[in-house]
Amino acid sequence: MIKILFFQPHPDDLELNCGHLIHYLATKSKEKYLIKIASTTKGEYGLPGAQYDKFKGDFLAKVRTRELYNALSIHGIPPENVHFFGCVDGLVEFNKEFVNKIAEYLNTEKPDIIFAPEAIYTSYYHKDHVNTGKAIYYCIHNNLIDFTPILYFYSTLSPNYFFGFAKEEFSLIDQLLACHKTQFWLINYVTLTYKPKTILAGRKLKGWKYAEKYRRIYFHKENKSKNNPSLIVKMLSHWFSSMPFFKAKYPQDVLEELKKKKKNLNIQGEYE
Ligand SMILES: [Zn+2]
Repeated sequence: MIKILFFQPHPDDLELNCGHLIHYLATKSKEKYLIKIASTTKGEYGLPGAQYDKFKGDFLAKVRTRELYNALSIHGIPPENVHFFGCVDGLVEFNKEFVNKIAEYLNTEKPDIIFAPEAIYTSYYHKDHVNTGKAIYYCIHNNLIDFTPILYFYSTLSPNYFFGFAKEEFSLIDQLLACHKTQFWLINYVTLTYKPKTILAGRKLKGWKYAEKYRRIYFHKENKSKNNPSLIVKMLSHWFSSMPFFKAKYPQDVLEELKKKKKNLNIQGEYE
């Protein structure tokens, strides 16, 4: 059996980026693949505005965990196949502690294939996303794990692999997103962009109208040049890295607590 690990920084990232691929692997080819989900945070600060402050933190974490389980049940993936890393939403740092945590988990799970958020060439430069992808890449590239899994990044601007799906299957994403009711403020925007995004990717794949896009990362010397994107992608990524994106909205008391912690915990840069 082939073990595939899907990493996400927040519950809902996989539904937004890999819904059709996961559904195919978990339903149509379920005898062949074992799917596991690894979530770095529980998205516990993923609500806008101070009017929602009383729900943020542990309560939202519980609700969003339930929402994730509901979405995964559409694929037939049980809750016991989900692992949470316990990182704080909005504060996933690329540091020794996080990298070691990922390495330890990978060495235990030993997946054949990993899907993770794009670490460099992306239009969504969220710290939790970029640092999750970066830590996984780092573990493989620097031999912190004793095997070499195949790594794909999703939400990439430089795709080299496309997974096609038909018009009749389009409603799957609506069903998956409907499970994430707390993300109501984001879903409308995402629904608008999802169709054009998958149509554009579908153009790259003969015979398909829609597709999800992925970037396979090459680790062997002779293939490494395949990791280099075009100049346009490099320029676009640079531009997107300076764009605003959604950030966790902490209640004031949590924010002050985090500021104090950050002063005592300045170990960033260790792996740069
Ligand atoms: Zn996210």
